[in-house]
Amino acid sequence: MPALYRLAMLERGIASILHRDTIAVIVGSKTFERGEACFAARRVLEVQVSAGELRGSVKPQEMGRANYKCRIWLREEGVAYECTCPMGIKLMFCKHAVAIALAHLDQERADAEKGLTILREALSTITQPQLVDGLLQLARRDHDLATDLKRLALDALSRRDS
Ligand SMILES: [Zn+2]
Repeated sequence: MPALYRLAMLERGIASILHRDTIAVIVGSKTFERGEACFAARRVLEVQVSAGELRGSVKPQEMGRANYKCRIWLREEGVAYECTCPMGIKLMFCKHAVAIALAHLDQERADAEKGLTILREALSTITQPQLVDGLLQLARRDHDLATDLKRLALDALSRRDS
């Protein structure tokens, strides 16, 4: 398999396993809840994603301890993880791994939202006929989008008439 393709697969792979439900199933509800609390307490200091892995650091609850370094990545057999905390050293999926995964999901959601804000601004600058032509071109290529657009137009019409 070409290296680039494999990398893309890995990236999609880590995205597909990193859903809240999947994480909850992997780690069990107790660790998941602890991870959620850790994330909610803003103890995740940073999280980075690259080539099929997540890396992050988490502030410990105890004073005077070094920040925990945590990593989740994909292997042929499934998900692998490591953390510098006492549980992570025993190779158990710890709350920090959950917390960095949740922080990553949150970041992605915020990025997507920001992308939409920029798109809204860009779309506001073009004329309505340009917008209509553009949407029709997209609808020609994408049957589902065509259906959605028809529904959108019908909804708008019925709201205008009522
Ligand atoms: Zn840990």
